[in-house]
Amino acid sequence: MSTLVLIERPDDELSQQAAVMAASLGADVEPVAIDDGGLGFAPGAWAQTLVDHAAATGVTAIVAPGTDRGNEVLAHVAAKLDQPMAANCTRIAPGPPATVTRVRWGGSLLEEAQLDGTPLLLTSAAHAVAAQPLAAVQTLALSDGVSDADRVVRVVDTVAAGDGGVSLADADVVVSGGRGVGSAEGFSVIEELAALLGGAVGCSRAVTSAGWRPHSDQVGQTGTKISPEIYIACGISGATQHMAGCKGAKRLLAINPDGEASIFASADYGVTGDLHEVVPAISAEIRKVRGS
Ligand SMILES: Cc1cc2nc3c(=O)[nH]c(=O)nc-3n(C[C@H](O)[C@H](O)[C@H](O)COP(=O)(O)OP(=O)(O)OC[C@H]3O[C@@H](n4cnc5c(N)ncnc54)[C@H](O)[C@@H]3O)c2cc1C
Repeated sequence: MSTLVLIERPDDELSQQAAVMAASLGADVEPVAIDDGGLGFAPGAWAQTLVDHAAATGVTAIVAPGTDRGNEVLAHVAAKLDQPMAANCTRIAPGPPATVTRVRWGGSLLEEAQLDGTPLLLTSAAHAVAAQPLAAVQTLALSDGVSDADRVVRVVDTVAAGDGGVSLADADVVVSGGRGVGSAEGFSVIEELAALLGGAVGCSRAVTSAGWRPHSDQVGQTGTKISPEIYIACGISGATQHMAGCKGAKRLLAINPDGEASIFASADYGVTGDLHEVVPAISAEIRKVRGS
């Protein structure tokens, strides 16, 4: 009996955390990395390789880090095996029945659920447990069972993040958006104001969980800790985990239509209103003053 753990890289903290969480299932932990032989990240091919290895060795659970890749590969595994999968678990207990606590609604809800399936399929939420170095990681070549269809969707190119702009950690001005921004496209007004002020764009975890911004933009306990001259928080409620990342700001301006939002308790300046009206109005005023 063993639990297979997908390792993205042996030095990757989130993969190490997945291995720690997998150990709570009580079986031997078998960390495996995939050597794609130059194909590039192909979730279907990685999943088929895990499925074939699991069948050959009789593992009782497959665990992956709750990253974009980990969740995607495990979702493919679940589809191939026609089994349920629980994503972003903060706690797992073997059972039977196995029970998991998992993060829902961008971290605002923790759900306790029973998980069925052989093998159990789950991913671990980031930073729910402390990482420990991995003793040994077995490398699996892509299995013979990988089909042409499994190879179709793959990463063919990567573009480095970073556009030469100021980094979030060092910026004097950070304009940050939360769930109140409403969509990835809604961040255009946040980006515009940040650019006008020579600042960086930040966001809350609700935003990264929704996939609107990358995790590198996240401010908070499980994101970047910042101490800008001014932090402009738009559509952010002020959860303690978010404030843990921006409490070093010298000044805080909050924009939120809910006058009772807890962010106002930490704010030096507050605007009770819709960010989609207030933020463009600030940008327009800056342009007017600058004559641009
Ligand atoms: C272990 C753990 C770690 C976490 N780490 C982090 C972390 O690092 N960073 C982080 O941010 N969170 C973190 N969280 C999540 C945190 O608890 C909150 O869920 C999250 O910060 C909420 O994000 P939010 O303020 O964008 O969303 P919400 O709490 O949903 O608030 C959205 C706000 O937008 C306002 N709004 C709605 N419409 C508009 C509008 N048109 N204009 C202006 N305002 C509007 C609403 O009034 C509301 O106040 C963590 C949670 C856990 C459990």
